[in-house]
Amino acid sequence: MVSQVKDSVLEAIGNTPVVRLSRVFRHAHVVAKLEYMNPGGSIKDRMVRHMLQRMPQGTERVVEGSSGNTGAALAMASAVLGLDCEVTIPDTTSTEKVKRIEAYGARVHRCATSAPAEDYASAARRIAQEQEAHYLDQYCSRLNSEAHYTDTGPELWQQLAGEIDVFVCGIGSGGTISGIGRYLKERDPHIKVIGVEPLHSAYRKQVTDRPANGNFQTVIEGLGKSRPSVSFDPAVVDDVVQVPDQQALLWLERLAQEEGILAGGSSACVAAGIAQLLPHYPQQRIATVFPDSGMFYLSKYF
Ligand code: PMP
Repeated sequence: MVSQVKDSVLEAIGNTPVVRLSRVFRHAHVVAKLEYMNPGGSIKDRMVRHMLQRMPQGTERVVEGSSGNTGAALAMASAVLGLDCEVTIPDTTSTEKVKRIEAYGARVHRCATSAPAEDYASAARRIAQEQEAHYLDQYCSRLNSEAHYTDTGPELWQQLAGEIDVFVCGIGSGGTISGIGRYLKERDPHIKVIGVEPLHSAYRKQVTDRPANGNFQTVIEGLGKSRPSVSFDPAVVDDVVQVPDQQALLWLERLAQEEGILAGGSSACVAAGIAQLLPHYPQQRIATVFPDSGMFYLSKYF
């Protein structure tokens, strides 16, 4: 027998299950990779691990701007590695997510979202400079999509045994869709990669060159941007669909009550996007990832 004991929770990141969504999508082939099963509670554990494995030697302090999950992943990893950790977040982030970061012993810096002097990412950059700390910079670092290209993408491909025609993925920083999408297309160029974002977010325009409809606002944490981030690779993405918040919230209940999957708002938004796409992709095998858990939003959504 070989011992299966992990050295730390960081070694427990990954190998998340892929589950068929046959109750909400009857007569269709739709599967979801449940990234909320990671120890820090989201897909961001993978990116943070990848980035910390490559940070400058001797780093003692880390800073990052986050809609919550990257912050929690970084706070968790910092606890294991003995790093001093500070996270900037938008003031719209759910209470559970803020407490979750603080529970790991990290400091949280809330940033105003209405008429801010600086947004949370700029605040993180400034604080990192002031404190001579290492700034992860998920919105610009190539290590973001690289984590999904070297880790999440190959894992998904293997679990599906290559049986996939369409990969559908929510877009926040764009790291997940760009990394997994690039890997899958290299394995099989016929695979379509389709992004999902809230209404009026900027990625659809970047991919399809359609005019934006106005200001971007959403209750879905983690998805959408007013301006596309550098981590998003439009060359990998074939199309982007937009989902109204109300529609996403309906799917939150459906996933919980019909599939027993208590997912977060971004997962529900992607499920709503898949429902929109299904008539256009009959008989296609569709795969997606559910980035985080509904547990982090119990008081916000449910
Ligand atoms: N869903 C949630 C809950 C997230 O926190 C994020 C990350 N912002 C995403 C989706 C989007 O992932 P990515 O940043 O890789 O586009």
